[in-house]
Amino acid sequence: LLIDKNGQVLIDTEGTAEGKDYSNEEFFRNSLINKVFMKPIYSDKDTAKLLISAPVVLNKEVIGIYAAYFDIEKIGMKFFSYEVGKNRYSYIVDKNGTILYHPDRQRIGTKVENELINNIINRVNTGKMITETSGIYEYRGTKKYMAFKYMKDTDWLVIVAQDLTELYAVSRNITFISVFVLLLFLILATKLGINFSKTITNPLTNLMNAMKSAEEGKLDEEFIYTDNDEFGSLSKTYNGMIKKLRSNYEELEALYEELTATEEELRAQYDTLIESEEQLRISEERYRIALEAGKNGIFEWNITKDELFISEQFEMLVGYSFKGIKMKELIDTIVVEEDKNILVQSFNEHINGNTKCLECEVRINTGYGTTRWMFVKGRLINGYMAEQKILAGSLMDITERKEYEEDIKYLAYYDPLTDLPNRRYFIEELEKELNEVEIKGIKKAVFLLDLDNFKKVNDSLGHDKGDELLRKVSTILKGHIDENVFIARFGGDEFLILIKHFEEIKQLKKIAKSIIEDLKDGIDVLGKNIYTTTSIGIALIPDDGKTVRDIIKNADTAMYKAKAEGKNKYMFFKSDMIDELEKKIEIEKTLVECLNNRGFKLVYQPQIDSNTGEVHAFEALIRIKDKFISPAEFIPVAEETGLIVDIGYYVVEEAAIQIREWLDKGIEVRPIGVNVSAVQLRDEHFVEKVKQAIDKYKISPELIKVEITESALMENSERNIKIIKELKEIGIKIAIDDFGTGYSSLNYLTYIPADYIKLDKSFIDKMFAVDGKKQVLDGVTFLAHQLNLKVVVEGIEDRDQFKYLKSKGCDYMQGYLFSKPVEKEEAERIISFIFEV
Ligand code: C2E
Ligand code: CA
Ligand code: CA
Repeated sequence: LLIDKNGQVLIDTEGTAEGKDYSNEEFFRNSLINKVFMKPIYSDKDTAKLLISAPVVLNKEVIGIYAAYFDIEKIGMKFFSYEVGKNRYSYIVDKNGTILYHPDRQRIGTKVENELINNIINRVNTGKMITETSGIYEYRGTKKYMAFKYMKDTDWLVIVAQDLTELYAVSRNITFISVFVLLLFLILATKLGINFSKTITNPLTNLMNAMKSAEEGKLDEEFIYTDNDEFGSLSKTYNGMIKKLRSNYEELEALYEELTATEEELRAQYDTLIESEEQLRISEERYRIALEAGKNGIFEWNITKDELFISEQFEMLVGYSFKGIKMKELIDTIVVEEDKNILVQSFNEHINGNTKCLECEVRINTGYGTTRWMFVKGRLINGYMAEQKILAGSLMDITERKEYEEDIKYLAYYDPLTDLPNRRYFIEELEKELNEVEIKGIKKAVFLLDLDNFKKVNDSLGHDKGDELLRKVSTILKGHIDENVFIARFGGDEFLILIKHFEEIKQLKKIAKSIIEDLKDGIDVLGKNIYTTTSIGIALIPDDGKTVRDIIKNADTAMYKAKAEGKNKYMFFKSDMIDELEKKIEIEKTLVECLNNRGFKLVYQPQIDSNTGEVHAFEALIRIKDKFISPAEFIPVAEETGLIVDIGYYVVEEAAIQIREWLDKGIEVRPIGVNVSAVQLRDEHFVEKVKQAIDKYKISPELIKVEITESALMENSERNIKIIKELKEIGIKIAIDDFGTGYSSLNYLTYIPADYIKLDKSFIDKMFAVDGKKQVLDGVTFLAHQLNLKVVVEGIEDRDQFKYLKSKGCDYMQGYLFSKPVEKEEAERIISFIFEV
């Protein structure tokens, strides 16, 4: 209904009330004063209606009223009949106690009979009940849970009642729902958890993937993770490990290749051996058959009368026919000179009763112009004319068998590649000779030769050329063989020489020298001239060992020493070499441990500005945390073993960490110089790794200086200059370390793009010696400054030196005069010192 403000109905959607006047109706009067009004209307019990009226307002003035009837049941159904159980229901009572809505339609419009509700209505009317209440009440003998809500706007009381028994059932539902919700929550939480844990599992998965590919042999896969957390350090360790593995693997591969080659050689040898053995077996079979077939020659020698009978077959075998020949004559005619003794001895032994029968193998020059091996067998015939000595015997051609035996012996005792005796032959020979040492007190010696850089030749030129080189070297060595010198191939590129007798050491030196000299001119290998040198270790017998094992081991130790001292030389074994070797092994072990447990630390020595006394920079010097081994001792070992590469990165990283720490503390940092050895420069990842450290700790590259010795620079100058250029491109400063200790030409300074030269302590000391040439310094500083290089002097211990060097324009000073290398805390303290200059 739309009603104007005079109560006239303007619009009625039902069309029944148009034109009616509602000006006296309660709802009209209420809405006219700007209220929303609601009232149930009971025209009859079946169609209870709710009248709602509301003002229509324009500019804060009521201009009419909008009213509508709602089927109360329908609203009731909608709002109050969401019954859960059979006995739950809700109903509405107005403040007069009239039931406005009840699921039992009959009761709509009647007065409520429930005492409890009447009570509540009373309390509502007297203003005692505030808004809502609930509780368990007994109504008509059943216990119910009832909730009342008083709705102020309409003055209605809404009652919800339910049997307790049913409610409990509901609560079970609620339990079920709780469990369900809990589960849902758990699933959600799990999902969230999974998302969160992905931040952990992702790096793990990456690591696992990296490890998987490593497992599949793809060793170039690194675990990329750049954060500086546990995963960061894990990734570093892993990558370090993988890198090591890769280099080991590459070495292994090379070794493996060598091995397979040797294996093939061996297999071929073995096959031939088997074949020869088979042939031997066949020939033995033949021999048996031959024997049975009576192919052997027969003789009978009447020793007493010196009469000799020989069979036709005998004559056939030796290719002569003898009539009335004497035994001695026969032997002289046919038996090979060197074997005569063997035969005669065997005869005598048997005739004297020392052997059961005569048995020997001798060579015979046959009448056919060939030399054949014969097996001679015979026995004294007893009892037959007892006063006469008669020897009956047979002769058998065993040449074929002998040849197979020779082949077998060759295969077992010679190296097929070089035709030299092999390791086994050498060992047996040496063993024989050792017995002689005991008995006769003769002095002997063993040389162990190892070619220098053979692996390089093999790797770069291929196995064919490697083999050829070994053959050529062997040929040269064979030139040294005589009755006193026995030479064998020990395996790979190692040879052994046994000197069976010597009187004076100088004899040995002469042999060693001449071998080294022979190799000097290079060797033509398939049209290519290859320079190979050799290092020789010498062990004396019995002084340096009495067993094969000790002698070879000690010769080997001496050989290693010769290599360490620059190769291409010989070295006699000394017992302290073993100590030295053991010490080195010990140091190597320590270094590996330190790499794994961060057992190194850096100490810092300041470089002082000669003019201002300020700290210009620090040099980082490595120390082992809990052992006193000086770098002068362990750095060479690290270089020899290649560990220096990893140690070097450790140092660079540690320096970067230190700079970062000082930056974070707000300290005005100075550049830190790190020492880089020649071996490190050979590592192809050097520049990249240094850059990584700088990036990782977000430091300016000018804060890292690299000190490279001039000898390292010279070693591979073109490549190293390239490396230096790359470092400079990044912004890293370069110092040429140990200047004045090696290379004498100053020329190279002009093409190495360095920033500093560091004059070595020994150079300065020499200069200040009594007749030292101080004027050299002028030239050096002049040239350096011309080339824009700053001059740093190292090892300044006294003030006079300092004053002099300063006056000659040396820019920075480092030495005990100012400070020894100090721990980082102390370095931090002296960073802002002004030293006396
Ligand atoms: P270097 O690069 O010539 O280092 C200078 C050496 O001289 C240091 O010995 C230092 O302690 C010492 N020194 C400094 N001032 C004086 C002085 O006034 N008088 C005397 N007598 N000596 C002084 P340190 O620390 O024993 O190092 C020895 C060598 O070990 C270094 O010689 C360097 O070649 C090598 N080294 C040290 N740390 C590292 C490193 O981290 N990496 C590499 N590759 N080599 C390192
Ligand atoms: Ca240095
Ligand atoms: Ca130095």
